[in-house]
Amino acid sequence: MVLNNTAFRDLVSLCEKLEATTKKLEKTRLISDFLHSLKEEEIPPAVLLIVGHIFPDTDPRTLEVSWRTIQRVKRDLKKKPSLGKSLTILEVHNYFAEIAAASGRGSRQKKYTLLTNLFARLSPAEERYAIKIIFGEMQHGVSEGVMMQAIAQAVGTSLVSVRRACMFTGNLGEVARVGMVTGKEKLERINLQLFQPIQPMLAELAEDFTQVFTEHGGKSALEYKFDGARVQIHKQGEKIKIYSRHLSDVTDSLPEIVELIRKEVKVHTAILDGEVIAVGDKDRPLPFQELMRRFRRVHNITKMMQEVPVKLYLFDLIYVEGNPLIDIPYQKRWEYLSQICNRYLLTNRIVTDNQEEAERFLKGAMKLGHEGLMAKSLESTYTPGARGKKWFKIKPAEHLDLVIVAADWGYGRRTGWLSNYHLAARDEKSGEFLVVGKTFKGMSDQEFTEITQKLQRLKISEDEYTVYVKPEIVVEIAYNEIQRSLHYRSGFALRFARVMRIRDDKSPQQADTIERVRKLYEKQFKRKAKTKVGFK
Ligand code: AMP
Repeated sequence: MVLNNTAFRDLVSLCEKLEATTKKLEKTRLISDFLHSLKEEEIPPAVLLIVGHIFPDTDPRTLEVSWRTIQRVKRDLKKKPSLGKSLTILEVHNYFAEIAAASGRGSRQKKYTLLTNLFARLSPAEERYAIKIIFGEMQHGVSEGVMMQAIAQAVGTSLVSVRRACMFTGNLGEVARVGMVTGKEKLERINLQLFQPIQPMLAELAEDFTQVFTEHGGKSALEYKFDGARVQIHKQGEKIKIYSRHLSDVTDSLPEIVELIRKEVKVHTAILDGEVIAVGDKDRPLPFQELMRRFRRVHNITKMMQEVPVKLYLFDLIYVEGNPLIDIPYQKRWEYLSQICNRYLLTNRIVTDNQEEAERFLKGAMKLGHEGLMAKSLESTYTPGARGKKWFKIKPAEHLDLVIVAADWGYGRRTGWLSNYHLAARDEKSGEFLVVGKTFKGMSDQEFTEITQKLQRLKISEDEYTVYVKPEIVVEIAYNEIQRSLHYRSGFALRFARVMRIRDDKSPQQADTIERVRKLYEKQFKRKAKTKVGFK
């Protein structure tokens, strides 16, 4: 029997049913039934689309479509042509792939055209879900965890097996396909294997060392955080392969690292985790862009090796002589790592319970031109693909001068003060002030009192919680990272923002601009293509 391709409409009606029930069991049953109705090639994209993903985690492709573009497409399409046949799941997914593939000059227009063509062929309900998928916000309560449960049910295996398979492949859709088409035994056999790279363990941004020590039980291993490219090195005798953070094979770009491992790693089989950086004089780190030249170049590698020398720093051992090490503590893994390779290959590291020593180590790292530190819990197991508090990244604070455009009334200890400030950067093009974050941190009681009075004098309007003010007060803000944001119209949000001082000497026109925020963001995230939505 030849099955017809499944309509996107069917996936949307499944999502509507998922939205309509709060019962988890019902949700997993609905999804499991739906997966059974699909053709083999439809399973991977359908699984991803249902959880609001387009590509698997291991796939670096992103749509790079902004909220503004979506609005423009919707506005221009007000009068929709009459709808023909519903698109299939595969067709919708292909549209997304084409949108992601549009890059370089004119890509914005290409993306706009593709989106317009796509939306023109969707019913209002389908369009609504397409937008939810684009922004990864499904709101039907199906997390990856619920999806894994549904896959387990569809395949007839345990959640633990599905979770493990996903951990090793980083590909929910593919795990579902393998299980459903080739059987549960195949799924259960997915394991850590040489030359099958696994997702690297990731880190969360730490607010400060106090948080690090609290989370890590008083003591932590601190390592330099290098500004380079993550590498996972698989070795079996003379055979050596190097994989990037997104698990692509980059062996050919790094022949000297292959040689180094061959010479220096004294075991037959191993999977190593580390960072490669480009270096100049005296091994000082070079900007990340230099390193990227190494990865882009496919010809004349020998010349490139001289132009951009690289250095490897190892910090973890995931597998050795037939034994997976992901379930043993980091401290033990580090010990094994130090036993199998020369010290000079290892990351600079201290184990400490002392805040001052930690600060000194951070200063040292910065002085040598590195990005900051990583703090690792000594007991932590290796959790592929997971971002958590077992590994923290510590970056020194950066500063921006921003303008207060609104403030919320405080509660608890801050009752009676306007204390949560909406911080904005100036958009040079429109002259508007666009919010990039909020904070109530960093002010003394007296400053709260003074600024509350000042803000009330600048009031434009107010509601129950918030007073909106004329943009006049400039504050110097420290923060640790800029993130993309769907919440703020500016498209950016500061992490761990706190007020350093009030800049009475600066006018709002002299405050930092959105353009500068964008530049800082791009500099910081230049290599992390792992955002699902882009800002143009
Ligand atoms: P981020 O990409 O900002 O989340 O920071 C995590 C990245 O820092 C990792 O994926 C590595 O590429 C990089 N990194 C640099 N030094 C280290 C280190 N000592 N341990 C772990 N990751 C490191």
